[in-house]
Amino acid sequence: MEDKAKILIKRLSELKDERNAVVLAHNYQIDEVQDCADHVGDSFELSRIAAETPAQVIVFCGVHFMAESAKILAPNKTVLLPETMAGCPMADMAVAEKVREMKEKYPKAAVACYINTSAAVKAECDVCVTSANALKVINNYPADEFIFLPDQNLGNYVAGKTQKKIILWDGYCITHHRVTAEEARKAREAIPGALLMVHPECRPEVVDLADKALGTGGMLRYAGESQETKFIVGTEMGLIYRLKKENPSKEFYLLSAGMICPNMKLTNLQKVVDSLENMSPQIEVPEDISTKAKICLDRMMQYS
Ligand code: SF4
Repeated sequence: MEDKAKILIKRLSELKDERNAVVLAHNYQIDEVQDCADHVGDSFELSRIAAETPAQVIVFCGVHFMAESAKILAPNKTVLLPETMAGCPMADMAVAEKVREMKEKYPKAAVACYINTSAAVKAECDVCVTSANALKVINNYPADEFIFLPDQNLGNYVAGKTQKKIILWDGYCITHHRVTAEEARKAREAIPGALLMVHPECRPEVVDLADKALGTGGMLRYAGESQETKFIVGTEMGLIYRLKKENPSKEFYLLSAGMICPNMKLTNLQKVVDSLENMSPQIEVPEDISTKAKICLDRMMQYS
């Protein structure tokens, strides 16, 4: 390890003790951020940890909606987002006003939102879902018709597996939606014998070509438990680091070189230390929005 990194890690350790802090990092974060974190996981796993940790300060290394979810579930804790510019373009594709318009247009439909939404949007929705539990939540929730937002691809994936009616939103993830079926075919040809697993945020034609459609937590579990030794991975490149670290005898190949989320790459070790040093930037969610958004998140736990 370089001297600068060693100094930063040492300072981070001191600050965590002084501030009673925990560092949470999303699976898509860069290597040095994953390595300095107390927990690495998907947005849902990290939100749960945020709600349950005895630490008083949570340094959330991810994007804005994730830190907001942590704050909603742990309103009495201080939540820091080391890089304020780390947003999620897909989350930005749904705004509260448009959700209200859709509710007027489809008054019988319940509104299910992906966890990748702002607190203000969650506050307008009935129930939240993740890629791992979306199908289960939709099937269990007492409604026959849903407006599903913002990811059209995840919505389409769920629609293909449920009897319920799904009204799609026109949002998408810039990192997953850009991958084409042609790229998936070429990757299979280039790496014969490899199992292709893709995130359901990919286009339907890419999901159709895959052996498995899984969220990041599902990919980690499947790769660890499977007898397969070679995998083509159709999600953001940050997950490859963790897959290799946890399965050193297996081979992992990124489906497309373009599967990089620029927002997830904005946080680094220096920014993590600085945020804890300065106790800034802090994430706040107005109480009225937080209260309503929490109902949406709590229902996800109830129906999943
Ligand atoms: S990978 Fe996609 S969904 Fe995740 S933060 Fe980036 S843009 Fe948003």
